[in-house]
Amino acid sequence: MSHITIISEKCVGCKLCVGACPFNAIEVTEKKAKILDDCTLCGACVSSCKFNAIDFQKDETDASVDLSEYQGVWVFGEQKNNQVSQVVSELLGEGRKLADKLSVPLSVVLIGSEIEGQAADLIACGSDNVYLVEHESLKNYNDESYADIFVQLVKRFKPEVILLGATTYGRSLAPRVASRLNTGLTADCTSLDIDPETRNLLQTRPAFGGNLMATIICPNHRPQMSTVRPKVMKPLDPDPARKGKIIRPDVHIPTELSVKVIDIVQTLCEKVNLTEADIIVSGGRGLGDPKNFVLVEELAEVLGAAVGASRPVVDSGWVDYSHQVGQTGKTVGPKVYFACGISGAVQHLAGMSSSDIVIAINKDPSAPIFKIATFGIIGNVIEILPELTKEFKAKLV
Ligand SMILES: Cc1cc2nc3c(=O)[nH]c(=O)nc-3n(C[C@H](O)[C@H](O)[C@H](O)COP(=O)(O)OP(=O)(O)OC[C@H]3O[C@@H](n4cnc5c(N)ncnc54)[C@H](O)[C@@H]3O)c2cc1C
Ligand code: SF4
Ligand code: SF4
Repeated sequence: MSHITIISEKCVGCKLCVGACPFNAIEVTEKKAKILDDCTLCGACVSSCKFNAIDFQKDETDASVDLSEYQGVWVFGEQKNNQVSQVVSELLGEGRKLADKLSVPLSVVLIGSEIEGQAADLIACGSDNVYLVEHESLKNYNDESYADIFVQLVKRFKPEVILLGATTYGRSLAPRVASRLNTGLTADCTSLDIDPETRNLLQTRPAFGGNLMATIICPNHRPQMSTVRPKVMKPLDPDPARKGKIIRPDVHIPTELSVKVIDIVQTLCEKVNLTEADIIVSGGRGLGDPKNFVLVEELAEVLGAAVGASRPVVDSGWVDYSHQVGQTGKTVGPKVYFACGISGAVQHLAGMSSSDIVIAINKDPSAPIFKIATFGIIGNVIEILPELTKEFKAKLV
């Protein structure tokens, strides 16, 4: 077990460690530092002390875990209404690269009812194996039963890497599985790689409000688990000639569940389907007034586009959260992204900078959005949007 102590004789009470602790877990009283209960044993304070007054003993390995027993890369084959989500093929594209670097098979865990028909597509998209678990009670996603089955499979087949979509289902399933397996989980990764020496998964994601990128490893536990948002990774071109195996493992299907899904009602928001749209028209605070948001919706309608929004617009209640693009909203990757009255803050860019073409409308020529825009229109968005709608209508409708 790791532990941290202050060597009282060496501590001069300079407080350098206080500023270095991200968890406010050090206080200095009477010129002596003291570690508080909030300490997470992250070790960040150690190098800040110029007096070697912090003794940090890290338990490097957990003797109970034999890392070499774990092999293979797995992807959670999330499905809804028996259709595998688009994010799964994106994860398979990335998973293929990781599996090849590790020289191990790539597999999908597909849980559902009468869903075998999807397995061939998963193999075409890069998977070597599909672990198929079918039961009528598994038709709809359920936290309890899906997590239970997933954990049974991991314990038996011991994959070293598991990738899940950072979707509603993936975000719910991943922490349940990770905590039951006593392993680490990195959410919302934007890039993944393998350290060839250690076989550790290098999991990179934005940290501190998107101002820096952190690469996180899970060196002492297996499997290494990551979630990745839709549209961040690129799928492979499907190859229907690819060969793979469908494996039907014998698992216990949990029936005593505390939550039962009675019905699934599709909300209007879900029909927006922002993450899969080819064109998105997004509005920001520059629209000035909630009533002006209709200008964004009108252009979107003419273009057959989805409607996006920046966070202040959502926070002010102009549109529903399901439209928010950015670090705390959706990650999108359309062919064309209209940013209307959006400044281009780093947290917004985190959700849309992989768009093929960005068209920015902003009255401020120095707005950061112009740095990533393919085309920029400097001017009043209230005047420009109706003009664009009129022109596109004349050409398209
Ligand atoms: C932890 C964290 C997470 C966040 N997550 C997100 C997120 O997911 N998504 C997100 O969007 N933000 C997010 N933010 C907020 C982000 O930092 C910005 O505050 C936000 O993106 C700004 O939104 P905006 O561009 O609409 O507004 P502003 O920054 O206020 O920009 C408005 C722009 O409109 C222009 N403008 C004004 N009037 C007009 C006009 N008449 N015509 C043309 N242009 C005009 C202005 O020049 C300005 O550039 C997050 C912040 C934090 C701290
Ligand atoms: S180990 Fe981490 S959490 Fe604990 S006192 Fe040091 S910096 Fe703070
Ligand atoms: S940085 Fe070192 S010497 Fe300074 S207060 Fe912290 S433990 Fe003491």
